[in-house]
Amino acid sequence: MTAITGDQALVKKINTSIILNTIIRYGPLSRARVSELTGLNKATVSNLVQELCDHHLLEEIGPGESSGGRKPRLLLFNGKAGCAVGVELRITQLVAVLTDLEGKIMAEEELQLDKHDVPYVLEALVRAVNSLMRLAPPSPYGVVGVGVGVPGMVDENGTVLFAPNLGWDMVPLRQLLQDEVGVPVTVDNEANAGAQGELRFGAGRDARHLLYISAGSGIGSGIIINGELYKGARGYAGETGHMTIEADGKECSCGNRGCWELYASEKMHDLAGDSLPSRRTSELIRHAEQGDASVIGHFSEMGRYLGIGITNLVNGFNPQLVVIGGPLSDAREWIGGTMGQVVSKRTLPYHRERMEIRFAGLGSRSTVIGAAYSAVSQFLGPVRVSAL
Ligand SMILES: [Zn+2]
Repeated sequence: MTAITGDQALVKKINTSIILNTIIRYGPLSRARVSELTGLNKATVSNLVQELCDHHLLEEIGPGESSGGRKPRLLLFNGKAGCAVGVELRITQLVAVLTDLEGKIMAEEELQLDKHDVPYVLEALVRAVNSLMRLAPPSPYGVVGVGVGVPGMVDENGTVLFAPNLGWDMVPLRQLLQDEVGVPVTVDNEANAGAQGELRFGAGRDARHLLYISAGSGIGSGIIINGELYKGARGYAGETGHMTIEADGKECSCGNRGCWELYASEKMHDLAGDSLPSRRTSELIRHAEQGDASVIGHFSEMGRYLGIGITNLVNGFNPQLVVIGGPLSDAREWIGGTMGQVVSKRTLPYHRERMEIRFAGLGSRSTVIGAAYSAVSQFLGPVRVSAL
């Protein structure tokens, strides 16, 4: 008997989550349309919608078009029922945002990071999160969670296994932060968070098969297959920065040679040495704007190598859309041309057909917004409505 009750509770939870996610994605919708889209019968939809309205997660808005008879009232997700905090841990700074449940930014905070030791970074994280939580307007659920995007490999428990640029090994970040801030915390790789941000709210809203390439201090990718983030067997998929693009190329800190990120990330600024006026992307962009030929040549060479890696990924994954994000996407004007040329010359013709490359729609905020979304998504329940 207990088992049956347990199953019924689970079915109800799943159905509720399906209804909610359907309305988030396709709303405003009438109850009848929700029933059609989900395949759930009208009585079930009606009961669960009532509960969601009672819990402030759905609201009713004015009447929709009638197909004869009484005009139906339409259901909309109530994005103001709570807030979330999204954080991106970068090499030299920490960026954090407070969003509503629909990814809309309400406040923003930025801290410089002078060191990377765990207690120092944790203290900065707690400070940023607490100051944003204090700004949250009154709402039925308050701050529902905190999502963090980190430049490294993260396991399913939110432990940062390896983040070479921070010098971190096995840091149980989710647990450490959750103990301090007192709300649920999710931790993900920054490219995975960025991919989610672009998929839900940015350049990838209409895509189901998407590759997000984060190009900055290294290169990472978030792989979206059929509307879902693909994490691989143990959560480490997407380390495309270390795919080999030159068989006997330069040595990489990972132990391999000729890795993509040595040719198409900010690492190339260092490798270019004194031929460049600066090693910071933002500075280099300023020089490119003033017509500095060496910088423009440098960016265009990076674009070429970005295009080579993208070609390999496009041939392997057959995506609809490739989104380029991260700090280097700010140099789109100078990397975009050569990148596009290489991709259109080298990808297989069938793969190229109807495949698009775009730069991040959320600019440098793909990861923070995606991280906040990850916290929201955990709060709302695990079922995604991606197959509809
Ligand atoms: Zn490598």
